Formats: sequence, C-alpha cells, structure tokens
Amino acid sequence: MNLGFNAQNANVNFQGRYNLSNYAGCLKGGAIGDALGWPIEFRRISEIQKKYGKDGIQDLIIKSTGKAEITDDTQMTMFTADGLIKSALKKLNLNEMPDMKRVFKSYKLWLDAQFGKIQQKNEGWINDIKEMHIQRAPGNTCMSAIANGVPGSISKPINNSAGCGGVMRVAPAGLMYKDNPELAFKVGAECAALTHGHPRGYLPAGVLSEMIAHIVNGKNVEDAVNETLKTLKTYKGHEPVTALMEKAQKLAKSDVTPSEAIKELGEGWVGDEAIAISTYCALKEPKDFTKAVKMAVNHSGDSDSTGAILGNILGAELGIEKLPAKWVKNVELSEELGQLAKDLYVKPQDIEAAVVRYPY
Ligand SMILES: [Mg+2]
Repeated sequence: MNLGFNAQNANVNFQGRYNLSNYAGCLKGGAIGDALGWPIEFRRISEIQKKYGKDGIQDLIIKSTGKAEITDDTQMTMFTADGLIKSALKKLNLNEMPDMKRVFKSYKLWLDAQFGKIQQKNEGWINDIKEMHIQRAPGNTCMSAIANGVPGSISKPINNSAGCGGVMRVAPAGLMYKDNPELAFKVGAECAALTHGHPRGYLPAGVLSEMIAHIVNGKNVEDAVNETLKTLKTYKGHEPVTALMEKAQKLAKSDVTPSEAIKELGEGWVGDEAIAISTYCALKEPKDFTKAVKMAVNHSGDSDSTGAILGNILGAELGIEKLPAKWVKNVELSEELGQLAKDLYVKPQDIEAAVVRYPY
C-alpha cells in the first residue's frame, strides 16, 4: 500500500487554522484517548485508584506488540471515514448529504471484521488493516443494529438506543464537511442514527461533528460549543442534550473539582453524557492535552469513549505537534490515522489511488 502523499494534488486552503496538523491531531488524539481509557473502561474509580494510584492511570499501557491498543471507538471512526469518502467519491458534492447506505455498508465491513468472517477482498485499505479484525469490547447496540441489516435514520429510527456508540465514531464527518458546519451536524447525527434511534444517541454525534468543523475552521472550543448549541436547539428532542452541554459549560467555569464535575455529568455510557464529559474536559484544560485526556478517562464510566471524544476535540484544536510525541508514536494505527487525516484533508477526487484504496 502506498502511504505517500502528493501535496501538489491537494487543493489546500491555508486560511485560518485549517491545517493538516489539526486533522491528524483530531484522529490521533482520539486514538490516544481511546487507548488510555481502554484498560479502565469497566472499572470504578476506586478500583482504578487502587491499581494506578490516587491520580488514576497516567500513561499508555504498551502491549507485547510494542503498541497501546485502540478499541472499537477508533475502529468505527476509521470506518465512518471509509464510508463517507466512498460516498463522496461517487457523488463529489460536499454540500449535500452523503449516501448513508454507503456509510452503513462500511459499518457492515467493521462488523464482519469483528467476527472473523473471511476477509472480504477489494473493500479498500481500511478493511485490510489487521487491527480492525480484533474485538476490543465492541458495543452491543452497534453490533445488533448492523447485523439487522436495516440502516436507521433520524426520520426512521430503528431502535430506542441512546448509547454513546453513535457519537464516539463520527469525528471524520466534522473534518470532511467542515465547509458547512450545519451540514456536518446532520451528517454526524445521521451516521449515529444508522444504529442509535434515540435523540440522546444521535444528537450528541451531531454536536461532536459540528464542533470539530468549527474548530478546524479556526474557532476555539468555547466558541465552537456556543455555535453548535444553536444548531442543536433546532432538532426535535434536543432538550436533555442541550441541558447537559450547558451544564458542562457552567461546570468548566466553576471551581467544582473535575472529579465532582464529571460525576455530575454522568458516566458517559449514554451519548449526551459522553459528549458533555468530553466537552467539559476540553473546556477545562483547552491548552494541555495530557491533563485533559487523563481527566477524561479517570472516572467510573465509559473511559475509552470519553477519552476518544475528548481526544478528537482537543487534538483538532491543538494540532498534532501539541500532543505528547511518545503517545503519538506508541498508539496503535498511528501511521494509518495519519494517512486517513490526509485523505480527509484533500478533496475526495484528489485522494491518491482512490479507486484502489476506497473502491466504491
Ligand atoms: Mg471502546
């Protein structure tokens, strides 16, 4: 596989902070948060402190492969990108909704990979990555909804799930649709609604996606949240999501300790709790990725997902250079995520060897 990048082909816009570094930061930051939280995903804070000390887990756990493991959050993020890119290559119009059936098909590739189905050939380079074929606590709602074979949508929900499996995977929608942040909201929310039918499951995905779009356009996290809340409030069933997001903003400005604040926001198993906890951590430590990501994972809830979402937000804000170099090097799929950042950064038609890497 050619991981090279031909900058001349890239129709690059250097306005604002729209910059490849922010794209790579978003995806690799997400993977780092995912990997930091994974060893403690199902542990209460008391157990975490007993095992790792009073401040909780402080470093990536390196496995025998020499890398820290990512989980379903990062795997599905990559398959979201796979589906969106394949759809965009077919349609070549980023001002319209993508073909959501194409995104669902990419999620089906992920599900098949999880269950060791004979690897399907010619489905593109992301499907061929061996770490996609290893189970790392995949979410039940995602698995059952995809296995059912019927893609859900906001207008035709397929279940009543509000889990965080929708929001944890949609950062690429914000990167790809950054020129139209309100559309980015809809794309992110519809990606989540493929498997999660409750507004508390899909609207947080819209929130993450639009926030990422604003951030790569140059807004800081605080302004990105304020802008995104305006869009959120136009959607039916937004009230609980809005309430938690506003609570996160308020807590970030207060002197409530982070551990108390996170407790007030929930545990992150539900979509709105996950986006609220991650947003709170990004607002609380907007300049220090290391502090923010440790804050986002060291609690009794869904640590890898809140870590991953925080990593997407703050990685996009700070750019790859401001993430700890050791973690960027040691996290699984770092090189592949770097390639994916480049593919999302250029126009779809400028992706090198698109026909081979994203067959559609
Ligand atoms: Mg996970």
